[in-house]
Amino acid sequence: MDENTTVVIVGAGVAGLTLGNFLLCSGIDCVILEKRSREYVEQRQRAGVIDARAARMFREWGLEDRVIGGVPVTPVMNFRIDGETRPLELGSDDHSDGRFCPQQVLVRNLIDVFISDGGDLRFDADVSSENIAGDDRPRVCYRDGAGSTRAIGCEFVAGCDGDRGVSRAAIPSESLTRYSHEYGYAWLTVLAEVPANHQSMMALHPRGFAGQFARGPHASRFYLQCPLDSSMSQWTDEHIWDELETRFGEPMATRGRITSTQLVPLRSVVYSPMSYGRLYLLGDAAHIVPPMSAKGMNLALHDAEVFANAVIHYQTKNHDSTLLDDYSSTCLRHVWNYQAFAAWWTELVHNAGDASYEGEFRHRLARADLERLFESDSANRLFSEFIAGLN
Ligand SMILES: Cc1cc2nc3c(=O)[nH]c(=O)nc-3n(C[C@H](O)[C@H](O)[C@H](O)COP(=O)(O)OP(=O)(O)OC[C@H]3O[C@@H](n4cnc5c(N)ncnc54)[C@H](O)[C@@H]3O)c2cc1C
Repeated sequence: MDENTTVVIVGAGVAGLTLGNFLLCSGIDCVILEKRSREYVEQRQRAGVIDARAARMFREWGLEDRVIGGVPVTPVMNFRIDGETRPLELGSDDHSDGRFCPQQVLVRNLIDVFISDGGDLRFDADVSSENIAGDDRPRVCYRDGAGSTRAIGCEFVAGCDGDRGVSRAAIPSESLTRYSHEYGYAWLTVLAEVPANHQSMMALHPRGFAGQFARGPHASRFYLQCPLDSSMSQWTDEHIWDELETRFGEPMATRGRITSTQLVPLRSVVYSPMSYGRLYLLGDAAHIVPPMSAKGMNLALHDAEVFANAVIHYQTKNHDSTLLDDYSSTCLRHVWNYQAFAAWWTELVHNAGDASYEGEFRHRLARADLERLFESDSANRLFSEFIAGLN
């Protein structure tokens, strides 16, 4: 016999877990289904910055102390430009609530809070795309860890299952438009068991962009811009450390163990609309921003709040669906605003370094844009507001 609930949430990433917690503390029934094990989800390393808007959101929902870890973001962005250190002071106080908080710390805390408050979260639950899209009452089917097929009837499905999940695939292709942009270069992303030289530092260098970000006291994430056709075999550990030292213009404090490397082509993607019948897409299931912007996780958190408020409104206001009807357009306005910021910032930092991708003219435009952030209060203020997530 099927179980029943109000919202089935597919995926226990930041979007699904945040939504689950908001619904749970509002007294609305939900079940979170996650394909992977708890251990896997809690160790998956990705983003590292919770922006000020998202931090304030958790405070308003009474969850800040329980879910946000890490250290406050500093009001300075550190650049190494052609080997010279140039700190960029962020010109507004808006960012001061943000945190350097590794994504897996946020995920771990959201899981702990959801379970300890009595939430229903099922790991090793692989959802299939059948019967989750459309106007009929959804019936979400999944295979559990023992290989049995189970089903849950619900009013709404929240597709929080990332870029490669099943939710978006359940929407007929003629009802969904994909907008995308390829930047023409990739990042080699590197995780290493070494303390970072700096909490955060970005290098703009004729050989390309490089970034380093602390991930706790004993681990760091590094990024190296590289061509799309770069082969992993050329990136030996020694070559990675050499390249980082060249682009940063200083020795790395320690050349420690590299635990993972991945080539990530930089792209922006938006799917529109973000809903179909009773299925709603949240987070990476609906949009991807280039990691340079540090907005992927923060956009997912924004979607979770908009959808939670829409469901709560529906449940408490006599099934008034106004906010649910507006969910897609509300989120897409925000998403396109941040896609515009992410595209501008991504192209700026890459063109300001290696001129060979888009030529000397774009290189000089990028340098002019960058200098404006150091010299113009109004340009700096607008930039700072985007970093804080408050535009
Ligand atoms: C290498 C890397 C580095 C990144 N760095 C940054 C950064 O520095 N800053 C930033 O802001 N963002 C960064 N991002 C992006 C950020 O991590 C994502 O935007 C964020 O994870 C989106 O959250 P989400 O909840 O939408 O999706 P996810 O975190 O991907 O969660 C989706 C969940 O759904 C589950 N799932 C999938 N299919 C099914 C199914 N059939 N049934 C049940 N469950 C399913 C998955 O297992 C997963 O747990 C990075 C991403 C990557 C890959």
